[in-house]
Amino acid sequence: MNKLDPDYTLLAATKYAPNGNGSHKKAPMDIEKIFGEKTFGLDEMKSRLPEDIFERMKATIEHSEPIDADVADVVAKAMKEWAIEHGASHFTHWFQPLTGSTAEKHDSFITPNKGGGAIAKFSGKDLIQGEPDASSFPGGGLRATFEARGYTAWDPSSPAFIVDNPNGSYLAIPTAFASWTGEALDHKIPLLRSMEALNKQALRVLQLFGDKETKKVYTTVGNEQEYFLIDEQFYYRRPDLVTTGRTLFGARPAKGQELDDHYFGTIPERVLSYMLDVEKELYRLGVPVKTRHNEVAPSQYEIAPIYENSNVAADHQQLLMLTLQGIARKYGLVCLLHEKPFAGVNGSGKHNNWSMATDTGHNLLEPGDTPHDNAQFLFFCAAVVLAVHRHQDLLRVSVATAGNDHRLGANEAPPAIMSVFLGEQLEHIFEQLTEGPATESKHGGFLDLGVPHLPDLPRHAGDRNRTSPFAFTGNKFEFRAVGSDQTVSVANMVLNVIVAEALDIMGTKLEAQLAGKDASDEEVLEAAVAEVLREVVVDAKPIIFGGDNYTDEWHAEAEARGLLNLRTTLDALDTLTDEKNVHLLEKYDVLNERELESRHEIMVEQYFLTINIEAETTEAIARTMVLPAAVRYLGELAAAVEYSSGVRKTATAVGAMIDTLETAIEALITQNKHREDTLEDNAQHMRNNVIPAMEAVRHAADDLERAVPHDLWPLPTYREILFVK
Ligand code: ADP
Ligand code: MG
Repeated sequence: MNKLDPDYTLLAATKYAPNGNGSHKKAPMDIEKIFGEKTFGLDEMKSRLPEDIFERMKATIEHSEPIDADVADVVAKAMKEWAIEHGASHFTHWFQPLTGSTAEKHDSFITPNKGGGAIAKFSGKDLIQGEPDASSFPGGGLRATFEARGYTAWDPSSPAFIVDNPNGSYLAIPTAFASWTGEALDHKIPLLRSMEALNKQALRVLQLFGDKETKKVYTTVGNEQEYFLIDEQFYYRRPDLVTTGRTLFGARPAKGQELDDHYFGTIPERVLSYMLDVEKELYRLGVPVKTRHNEVAPSQYEIAPIYENSNVAADHQQLLMLTLQGIARKYGLVCLLHEKPFAGVNGSGKHNNWSMATDTGHNLLEPGDTPHDNAQFLFFCAAVVLAVHRHQDLLRVSVATAGNDHRLGANEAPPAIMSVFLGEQLEHIFEQLTEGPATESKHGGFLDLGVPHLPDLPRHAGDRNRTSPFAFTGNKFEFRAVGSDQTVSVANMVLNVIVAEALDIMGTKLEAQLAGKDASDEEVLEAAVAEVLREVVVDAKPIIFGGDNYTDEWHAEAEARGLLNLRTTLDALDTLTDEKNVHLLEKYDVLNERELESRHEIMVEQYFLTINIEAETTEAIARTMVLPAAVRYLGELAAAVEYSSGVRKTATAVGAMIDTLETAIEALITQNKHREDTLEDNAQHMRNNVIPAMEAVRHAADDLERAVPHDLWPLPTYREILFVK
């Protein structure tokens, strides 16, 4: 289609059909009925499994009891029947390789029988173990050719689900992915191991507090996911979006997000239709999504589920991203999950809300009305603060990607410096703790709105701080630096293990305080806890910050406090295999040194490859699309110079811009071809030299975009992409 075609931009708005198929009938949604209907969860198991088998499955799911082969056989049979009833012909072990996305290889249930026909078969062995080979995934040295086997292992604690396609369906079974030597090749195994580590230390602490009921502590996670939604006709005309997920070109439009007229605005009809469809599908998959709204940037939105245990939440997060992207196509839309698809407007992140809960139903980060005398809460809360202070580097690594580097520190997302925001009430209590036991809590009181018929609103005792990377928000911590297209498994693995260590340290201190004393005496326990808290809070205090994290003053102060400022992915990755981190992850059986080193290598390589691909794409678009358009325009101008001095001036200016672009392209080609001896050095070269060269090309091209006639410009502009809905 020619850009002069009047349908070029109108199509976006007019092609859309509600329900994605043109039917205008309102589809009723019975949430209770459809929720989880595409999952093989406990309800489904209960109705299909013999009672004893069901009880054993339940023990596996709820208490991590190992599973026997005879149980697996019965479960497999029931699961197969259920899947076939839901239209499935195939099954897949669904896993999370170190690329950060999900992977699957499908096998059909079909097995030929002797009579020339076939039967559907699926055994306990098929369910429990797979060997997908999958040897092309990055292994970071863990899979040398002589030990290249890779196995998937069923994770019964995350429900199997059905994936539908218009022409059929398949059964997806969440699995872990390990090498022949038993080392983790995925993000699920370390996450599960870290949950175990935290469980152990948290139980130990609870027992010191006299808790005899709790049998298990698990971490809970709820992720707020930001994303962009753009019309597919623009998407397919932007090779940069198609290849790299972000725009590598694009002049700033006259209007961006300055007016704040998109944020929390009424959701456009087509977008809302899409959201309703996404949510319905997620309900069916048992993903409890709850909240939706417009975000800050034009065409940016957010979706958030209700929290679940970390392992299931991480699987559901992946499903959520896949569903967001999949359903968009039905509406002529494309969902962009990149951290920074557009320069000059906000990028996308993923707030990771995190807490710890007991199997008896208590949230260990629930402060209650008088947090100052809630010793157990303060103990767990202080453990998180201590953990963040001790391992700022690991938290930073857990969100380190080339894409996320565009956000962190760009005054729209928290800076790369880790700090903890506690809110006024808790900060006040922590202040008291440095001197001894806390004796009072500030209270929020009520808000009087000055209008008689409006209710008095209870006021929270602490305000929110949107600029902090790690904030206490009422009864959970919110880690806000996670990138929008990242798996949340890594960040949560880090959170779990660092808090496990902090609880271990504090538990040991508490045991020492209580040695030879009667811990069942409440006063004795309180005095001992106060002493531990005093030591910990004095030690970890530099990490607590309640001000504006976006300011230069904070950067200077953070440096004075000795906090780390790991600005780019590569700075962060440099710390990953430090002795402290190797020791921590080995001590709590989360990652051994080889596993850690493999992750380091893969992350450096992914960084290198990402920038390298962006640079090649920049070069190709600049040479084959931008430059020819500019030259065509110069030709038109040249034909008219003799009639107008203005045209001559414009031609000279455009000619100069073309020269600038040519020079920048040549420099980029040279830089992008250049190679050093090691992967690390090549990655550094990308950051230090290729990124600036790419920016120079973009800058020259964006100048031309402002000069070249719209009908000659080959790329959809920001104005079109971001504002046609
Ligand atoms: P806020 O407005 O403070 O961001 P919301 O209630 O909107 O809080 O919650 C944001 C996210 O935090 C949701 O996904 C929610 O389920 C999650 N969340 C709430 N409580 C917890 C918890 N105890 N553990 C983990 N996540 C939680
Ligand atoms: Mg929030």
